[in-house]
Amino acid sequence: MFDTLSDRLTSVLQNLRGKGKLSDADIDATAREIRIALLEADVALPVVREFIKQVKDRAKGAEVSQALNPAQQVIKIVNEELIGILGGETRRLNLAKNPPSVIMLAGLQGSGKTTLAGKLALWLKKQGHTPLLVACDLQRPNAVTQLQVVGERAGVTTFAPEPGNGVGDPVDVARRSIEEARRAQHDVVIVDTAGRLGVDEELMRQAADIRDAVTPDETLFVVDAMIGQDAVTTAEAFRDGVGFSGVVLTKLDGDARGGAALSVRHVTGKPILFASNGEKLEDFDVFHPDRMASRILG
Ligand code: GDP
Repeated sequence: MFDTLSDRLTSVLQNLRGKGKLSDADIDATAREIRIALLEADVALPVVREFIKQVKDRAKGAEVSQALNPAQQVIKIVNEELIGILGGETRRLNLAKNPPSVIMLAGLQGSGKTTLAGKLALWLKKQGHTPLLVACDLQRPNAVTQLQVVGERAGVTTFAPEPGNGVGDPVDVARRSIEEARRAQHDVVIVDTAGRLGVDEELMRQAADIRDAVTPDETLFVVDAMIGQDAVTTAEAFRDGVGFSGVVLTKLDGDARGGAALSVRHVTGKPILFASNGEKLEDFDVFHPDRMASRILG
């Protein structure tokens, strides 16, 4: 995902190596190069501005260090600022003290929600949890079956409306799934909601109604990192329409420029909890800002 950005940043910072003290002009020139690299990687402009300002201010104000030469010092600052825009500390999944915990997934159709539901279920199961997948995407004809298939692959139960009962009401399904979880002792409920191709009001209202019915411990906004700048506008729409407590980035294995991934946290103020990087259920992990920053800096 970040190959081009990573190459660019590495070469910009490489140019500083071997220099003695860095003048303000050196720092400005480096900052300009970093700015171009970030913009070309599709990072949102306000994020780039803030990032460059921080790097410049800190590099110019940096104490002379015994341990690090000037180039190393700039690399250290860039690394720390990258970790900062990616969210700083790793944010753990918030589970309820009294089970069942409820995790609701929201996002556009095709963002990878259903796949993620399976990944999350498998990940939780490996940690000794007993997740229940809940099919609340009743709009798309195949969505329920798709979730059931994913559930089988993960080896977890899926709760869905009985076939033959019409389309069914997603809010009612969500509500009943909590009773079912209590009855069958599932300690985590993962609610897959409907996604449209674009943001629309009905989708938002339905997601908000489901949210009100089940009061999730986490509402995760699932976003395809390949959709570039649109990720930021979609995230803002979901934040205002449904609200969410965290973000999951999907398709990080793609070869897009990755700027979305670098912007979403800063723009929404919500932490990235997980990253999805492939079609297999195992292609999934907790998101660690420091590891991602190291990967980008090569
Ligand atoms: P939903 O409409 O939001 O439920 O999205 P799906 O879970 O159906 O995913 C849409 C498509 O993206 C499917 O073909 C998935 O196999 C694929 N997909 C999901 N997550 C990833 C990922 O992390 N990497 C890749 N390469 N493909 C993914």
